Amino acid sequence: MASGFRIFVMVKQVPDMGAKAGLNPDGTIDRARAKRMLNPFDKFALQAALHTKKMYGGSVTAISMGPPPAVEILLEALAHGVDRGFLLSDRRLAASDTLATAYALYKTIQHVGEFDIIFCGLQTTDGDTAQVGPQLAERLNLPQVTYCEDFSVKDGNVHARRIIEGGHQVVIAKPPVLVTIANSYHPLEYKSFRGAWRVQQLQRKQEELAKYITTITLDDVGADIERCGLKGSPTIVAKTEKVGEIGGSCTMHEGKSVDELVKEVITNSNVEEYLLAGKS
Ligand SMILES: Cc1cc2nc3c(=O)[nH]c(=O)nc-3n(C[C@H](O)[C@H](O)[C@H](O)COP(=O)(O)OP(=O)(O)OC[C@H]3O[C@@H](n4cnc5c(N)ncnc54)[C@H](O)[C@@H]3O)c2cc1C
Repeated sequence: MASGFRIFVMVKQVPDMGAKAGLNPDGTIDRARAKRMLNPFDKFALQAALHTKKMYGGSVTAISMGPPPAVEILLEALAHGVDRGFLLSDRRLAASDTLATAYALYKTIQHVGEFDIIFCGLQTTDGDTAQVGPQLAERLNLPQVTYCEDFSVKDGNVHARRIIEGGHQVVIAKPPVLVTIANSYHPLEYKSFRGAWRVQQLQRKQEELAKYITTITLDDVGADIERCGLKGSPTIVAKTEKVGEIGGSCTMHEGKSVDELVKEVITNSNVEEYLLAGKS
């Protein structure tokens, strides 16, 4: 791999829930009113992509699917050192579930070109399914490393440490490979002054910016429209409910055997009533 890795990083724009986005009467997020931001989990994926380029050479391409304002996160990625960005934006994608999203992103990746490593975030802060990365790997017929919290490249292979219950597992994957990065990976470094300045300059000259960020449609990527948007989404959201602020009290039970602790928790709470009522 003389010229380094062809690295893709998948990034999504999400509502900034910290800014109290609010909900529509039907329970969906009011995205027009919501402040927008780069999915916090994708910052780790971006750091992994930039680190790979820095250590082993190559180029980084950021890919996103979303409405036109999602270009903001590609600009942010560019300021951090990404080489180019692609935004798949098409009204026919509205109401896509994860199956339709992964299909559309798969077609986009095929359109953008060849790659060695695709980095994804672990999950998003809005959809929160953690399905898109693994679904992409399946569609692209790639080995996948999920929950990766650190990695290095030796002899052209990715040596990844992934989180498993109660410990770690080290796996070796031969590129092309898809890796989902956990939020225990290194945080995204600050963008350089030079990077931020460059993006500011590019924004002033749209024709220059177009050399780095390309907006594409479903027609450009040759997607089957029947498999996108509502038509291509077998998932139906039956109900969304606002649960209000998370709060309440917390009691710590310590220093006993598990059996004793379980008994104590059941005795001191209404868990038993709950179980008898057939709830879980
Ligand atoms: C029935 C249904 C209807 C929906 N309707 C809408 C709708 O109308 N509008 C809407 O905005 N959402 C809608 N959604 C949500 C949408 O399906 C998800 O946001 C999308 O599939 C991504 O899933 P996720 O957010 O759970 O990502 P996860 O699987 O949690 O994300 C994992 C990683 O995949 C990558 N990734 C995920 N999404 C993208 C993306 N768009 N671009 C680039 N990389 C990405 C990122 O690296 C991310 O960290 C709907 C969902 C369902 C189930």
